[in-house]
Amino acid sequence: MAVPLLDLKAQYASIKEEILKEISEISDSQYFILGPKVEKLEKEVAAYCASNFAVGVTSGSDALIIALMVEGIGPGDEVIIPPFTFFATAGAVVRVGATPVFADIDPVTYNIDPVKVAEKVTPRTKAIIPVHLFGQPADMDPIMEIAKKHNLVVIEDACQAIGSEYKGRRVGSIGDYGCFSFFPSKNLGCFGDGGMVTCNDPEKAKLLKIFRNHGQSGTYMHEYVGGNFRLDALQAGILSVKLPYLDGWSEARQHNAAEYDELFAAAGLDGKVSLPKKAAYPVRHIYNQYCIEVAGGRRDALVAHLREIGIGCAIYYPLSLHLQKCFADLGGKPGDYPVSEAASGRIMALPIYPESTAEQRRSVVDAIAAFLK
Ligand SMILES: *Cc1c(COP(=O)(O)O)cnc(C)c1O
Repeated sequence: MAVPLLDLKAQYASIKEEILKEISEISDSQYFILGPKVEKLEKEVAAYCASNFAVGVTSGSDALIIALMVEGIGPGDEVIIPPFTFFATAGAVVRVGATPVFADIDPVTYNIDPVKVAEKVTPRTKAIIPVHLFGQPADMDPIMEIAKKHNLVVIEDACQAIGSEYKGRRVGSIGDYGCFSFFPSKNLGCFGDGGMVTCNDPEKAKLLKIFRNHGQSGTYMHEYVGGNFRLDALQAGILSVKLPYLDGWSEARQHNAAEYDELFAAAGLDGKVSLPKKAAYPVRHIYNQYCIEVAGGRRDALVAHLREIGIGCAIYYPLSLHLQKCFADLGGKPGDYPVSEAASGRIMALPIYPESTAEQRRSVVDAIAAFLK
């Protein structure tokens, strides 16, 4: 049975009428950049993320960049990030001219290890960017403590984690900023690129709005050099239609994850496959990805086999960021971040999207079990 890694058409089919009505209304208005649709979405996302403010931007990557810009982080400054994340977390730091400093991850959650973060703080450190990878929150309490002690900014990379919770608190509301992506494959995706920055401080919210519009504080009056980071009305309108469905979709992902857990347990793959683990602290994990680890150096062969028989899978992420060619000047070497490097050699993501069926999951697990027997 063919199983795609993600099937956006299934989700679209379930809300097509509402979406087309919204697109038609915006087309009639010919109001495309910022404006009432973006403001409406900002209020909705702020409420959903339990934050005082939300500012719509062009992408999750730009959400990270604009938060760093507002804080005036640049050349000579260090920003502590995990080496096991999507490229944009590190790319944003370099784009503003600052230096990414990696702190290895925790093997249970794949999120930045607060003990390692503390070891990396120097007088040049300005910020920490914890990533809530795959939809499971990083251990925020100790991170916030380190930040408070050293007067650091905390920018949550919540691009994979909208609606996820750490000890009952929504991600994006805990640090100084929360950065969200509406890339189509995230739990809440638009029809192109889009993003959002949440924050609780009104001054920071005001600056985010100024920076996303070329640093303009009055018409053609530029107080800062920002950029064009404006969210558009079509994406905002589509996201407002989708947001009321998000909890249902995330709950379906949780259900699918629990089903995988049971199927794998029944398949008797102990020692060959290890399943995603919940953090030791209370979380609401929204499973943007369901990632297993494959032992014995067989991951790549398994991925190739599954793809050959029509089962979608992906490797997030195959190379720890400190070993990427573009960061060679940072001096990273193999062995520097052993937890991250080990994960990148063993991890793979399976289809977990809300509309996928129990039958599909059974065929995924059967195929894996047959291959690894
Ligand atoms: C998707 C993602 C981003 C970037 O978001 P875009 O909207 O694609 O720019 C940043 N960080 C993480 C962890 C992501 O998963």
